Amino acid sequence: MKVVNLMAVVDEEKCKACRTCERVCPVQAIKVENRKAIVDAEQCRGCAACEQRCPYYAITMVKREEPVEVAINIDDVDYDKVISLCRCAKLNPEQIICYCTGTRAEEVAAAILKGARSPEDVSFMTGARTGCKVECIQPILRLLKAAGIDPAPPKGGWQWYGQTPTVWDIPEKVKQKYASRGFYFDEDIKLLERVIEAPLQGRREN
Ligand code: SF4
Ligand code: SF4
Repeated sequence: MKVVNLMAVVDEEKCKACRTCERVCPVQAIKVENRKAIVDAEQCRGCAACEQRCPYYAITMVKREEPVEVAINIDDVDYDKVISLCRCAKLNPEQIICYCTGTRAEEVAAAILKGARSPEDVSFMTGARTGCKVECIQPILRLLKAAGIDPAPPKGGWQWYGQTPTVWDIPEKVKQKYASRGFYFDEDIKLLERVIEAPLQGRREN
């Protein structure tokens, strides 16, 4: 859940239509039209990426009159499906995957079950990836993949969609090579699987 207190506002006099803001926005809330950047205030999640990157200092973050609460109602979806999606992505449903917004894997899974088809949809629906925008992309991609979705990066955007391998992807040959050098991948897998399977505190598994 994220409470969005800010929104981006563009100074049209300063905007040079360079499109940097468009390329960095995690929810595609800012677009250049008729050579000026325009913010969709409803869509903006107040992350300030555009303000920080605009080379012409044309964007200012301003306080919203009414904060916007961005949250998914998990009760709207079948929680067994949430569990199975999270476990397929090697995540515990109650695990926090976006530390900036405190978003849990179950919220992202619920967003996917409610129609999210890209990291931008997930960010819009849950608020995840609107803080540092770095740490949570991998678990989001893993959850999308678990749902059979392989999203294409936004056209012309600078969002990074490359998936990094997890400990489960390491070939046996590589494990053996590094076993004598203090890497214990199989032990890591056992530990992570205990985390994934850990009993849920908030909800009872059927
Ligand atoms: S980054 Fe700044 S100058 Fe470039 S299009 Fe966006 S608002 Fe305009
Ligand atoms: S979500 Fe972030 S990058 Fe996008 S318009 Fe709002 S403040 Fe700018």
